Amino acid sequence: MEVAIMGAGMSGLSCALTLEKHGIKPRIFEKRSRVGDRFVNGEAMFSILNRPIKDSIEYISKEFDIHLKPITETNKIVIHSKNEVGSIEGKIGYLNIRGRHENSYESQLAKQVKTEINYNSIYSYEDLCKKYDYVVLATGDGEYACDLGNYRCDLTCKMKGVSVEGEFNRDVPEVWFNYEVVPKGYGWLIPYSEREANIVIAYPCTPNNIKLDLNQVFENFYSLICEDINQKPRITDEFQFTRYMMGICNSPKIDNTYFVGNCFGAISPGLGFGQFTAILTGVYSAYDICGIDKYEKLVRPLFDNYNNSLELRRYLQNLTDDKLDSSIKLLDNKFFDKLIDKIFSAESQIDLMEFATPVMKLNNYYKKKLNN
Ligand SMILES: Cc1cc2nc3c(=O)[nH]c(=O)nc-3n(C[C@H](O)[C@H](O)[C@H](O)COP(=O)(O)OP(=O)(O)OC[C@H]3O[C@@H](n4cnc5c(N)ncnc54)[C@H](O)[C@@H]3O)c2cc1C
Repeated sequence: MEVAIMGAGMSGLSCALTLEKHGIKPRIFEKRSRVGDRFVNGEAMFSILNRPIKDSIEYISKEFDIHLKPITETNKIVIHSKNEVGSIEGKIGYLNIRGRHENSYESQLAKQVKTEINYNSIYSYEDLCKKYDYVVLATGDGEYACDLGNYRCDLTCKMKGVSVEGEFNRDVPEVWFNYEVVPKGYGWLIPYSEREANIVIAYPCTPNNIKLDLNQVFENFYSLICEDINQKPRITDEFQFTRYMMGICNSPKIDNTYFVGNCFGAISPGLGFGQFTAILTGVYSAYDICGIDKYEKLVRPLFDNYNNSLELRRYLQNLTDDKLDSSIKLLDNKFFDKLIDKIFSAESQIDLMEFATPVMKLNNYYKKKLNN
């Protein structure tokens, strides 16, 4: 059986590893000259978003025999709104590195894969389809799915990020929801060592946001961060996306083509998490190819997760700075504090998104009616 995997990232390599474990040697095609050949950035995997799974890294290791070493476990996240600062503590999840760093998740996966990776690939999907029994599309965006008429793009956003050097508490990521500075979007700081971190903004391309200058928005955000963290970290690298698509495929598999990772719709529109789903879709597509289980069945819950996250995105976009301030203030309230501790505790089985989605959906519905 001849299997081609297009893209040696999170989903493609997870697929390759799983195929190898079941005796299939795929051919892996990567367009870049090495794995993770892009900006280095800190990312997060929050267990709370993957309930009922308690610990995502342990789960991946036990269930799929894929072993990833995060940089650190995070037990606290600081949340800023325009006028308030709060924090959530608990077993939140992990921080990790991505991109061209020897400890990035893609580098760790590549070390576990035995099959040689074909770098600088210029093969198109059409080329691979002609030659292989199965093609796994793992290129990290929805472009191919779009071209094949198999993608629902729900939003596009602009993103700009920088790597910085300064002094950071490497276990504590921080996030800012300040619509005066980043309208309807957010910004975050993820440390990946005591001296290095990423500062990134992302905002949706809504009609009101189209006229914004991404560089100016970022500059304003950077000034805000410098004030809040009381230092001016040195910028060492930067990246930007002017049209980052968020959406989901209509069918996870068409004939013998599998859509995995962001080609499937791994990245959640609510807060932009996609690593865990990228691994799941990679592994599940391999299960289908090996005849262990059906891809369409295995990914069904991932469609629900995506749609819940889309409600979260709409909900967030309907909020104002005042509302965001009052939500952050609630974190000081003893009752909410206890509830949140419970939800984030290691023993918690509560799926926050499933729990909150009906309320957000109702709210979004009324907001839409009011606006019409
Ligand atoms: C700035 C930023 C911050 C993020 N932060 C988080 C976070 O904190 N937590 C989280 O969970 N998720 C986060 N995400 C999302 C997460 O990174 C992605 O959802 C995940 O990496 C998707 O995995 P993938 O396998 O689809 O793509 P990738 O891991 O990006 O791999 C795609 C691979 O395909 C290759 N490729 C592309 N085109 C071709 C081609 N034509 N032929 C061959 N190879 C090709 C690419 O070079 C790349 O190696 C973030 C994303 C961004 C952009």
